Amino acid sequence: MEALAAPSATAENLAAVDPEVAAIIRAENKRQHNKIRLIPSENYASRAVLEATGSILTNKYSEGYAGKRYYEGQQEIDKIESLCVERVKAVFGAEHVNVQPYSGSPANQAVYVALCEPGDSVMGLSLAHGGHLTHGAAVSISGLHYQAVQYGVRKEDGLIDFDQVEALAAAHRPKLLFCGGTAYPRVVDFARFAEIGHAVGAIVVADIAHISGLVAAGVHPSPVPYVDVVTSTTHKSLRGPRGGMIMCKARYADAIDKAVFPGLQGGPHNGTTAAIAVALQEAQSEEFKAYAQQVVDNARILGEALSARGFALSSGGTDNHLILIDMTDRGITGYQMAKSLDAAGIVCNFNSVPFDSRPARKPSGIRIGTPAITSRGFGSDEMKQLAEWMDRVATARADETLEKDDRVEINAEVRAEVRALCDRFPAPGLLYDGDGQPL
Ligand SMILES: *Cc1c(COP(=O)(O)O)cnc(C)c1O
Repeated sequence: MEALAAPSATAENLAAVDPEVAAIIRAENKRQHNKIRLIPSENYASRAVLEATGSILTNKYSEGYAGKRYYEGQQEIDKIESLCVERVKAVFGAEHVNVQPYSGSPANQAVYVALCEPGDSVMGLSLAHGGHLTHGAAVSISGLHYQAVQYGVRKEDGLIDFDQVEALAAAHRPKLLFCGGTAYPRVVDFARFAEIGHAVGAIVVADIAHISGLVAAGVHPSPVPYVDVVTSTTHKSLRGPRGGMIMCKARYADAIDKAVFPGLQGGPHNGTTAAIAVALQEAQSEEFKAYAQQVVDNARILGEALSARGFALSSGGTDNHLILIDMTDRGITGYQMAKSLDAAGIVCNFNSVPFDSRPARKPSGIRIGTPAITSRGFGSDEMKQLAEWMDRVATARADETLEKDDRVEINAEVRAEVRALCDRFPAPGLLYDGDGQPL
């Protein structure tokens, strides 16, 4: 009997099966090469991480946890998840680890579901002052279903206002006290948060989504010794696949695991789990430690170069991978600066600055960061060049004597220079042809 011909989807690659999607991915591959990517939550995952993410592990259902699954056939999946959990424990020193949350926001949601009831008081850094949506913002489920109390930073220096944190904690006695943020450029004093939270009986949660790569490498203090629960994404400075994880003290292990599954999720994304394991393997290397140190050094050098050129840095500088800039003194909004920079081949996001007088859709600030550009090998020379380009773009945008065409011309000039620099720094994970051009 003749064998059946294999269906085309098993024999052909993406370009043959779906040229439309393949073309979009190739264009994005080019964009990620050609532009300077300054969004501080983004990075370039390695080929190894991408390979694990896109592997046949995507085919498997595995509701439950290693050794306690609801489907058969878990011989290999249990090994992957256990390996991943062991590596997270080894790198961060956590007592218990759950690597199943689909991303950072679901990880935080699981903490609420595990450790408090709807209507309970919870506390976090306000969105407007650099907190994350999931730390109690009014538009998020964390603000809708819980009694969210929000603290902020001090107007004079942009640092967390611990007097306010302490006063609010005493007044509201929150069930959960979140620390960490998404646009906070300084070291987070986890010990101080733990002390304040524990004094009022709160469970203290550190969200290290942005800085987990820095923590893994020891260039930012770890919250693990101090707080009860740590949540993180895996795709930001940690340079893994898009995913989330939760670390906690052993006494919260059951509640956290039950909240993730069956509380919120069904089957874990096993390709992601494998890729997190790969990222953690990479994070234990000397190379990664040097990388994380360079991320912080680059941010400092870039911040100093920008300050010297008259950019106003929120909190006056940075201790980590990110910089928040108030564009008001340069005569433009953050929204205008972000749009102009993108036209010049430099990608960042517009962002509110603390005490911003402008609306969140068109705020005063931009937020930039160094994880992605450091992954492609940028160092101090490139940081100084970057500050010069940003200065040129801001100056042109603010100059009312310039015709629109002149501005377009200046942005195009910068874009060409950016492109030339990018060609000298191929990025991890992207696809290139034999001449070093992005495919
Ligand atoms: C990015 C981020 C998250 C959310 O992660 P997603 O993967 O986008 O859901 C949560 N907390 C903080 C502090 C973040 O920066």
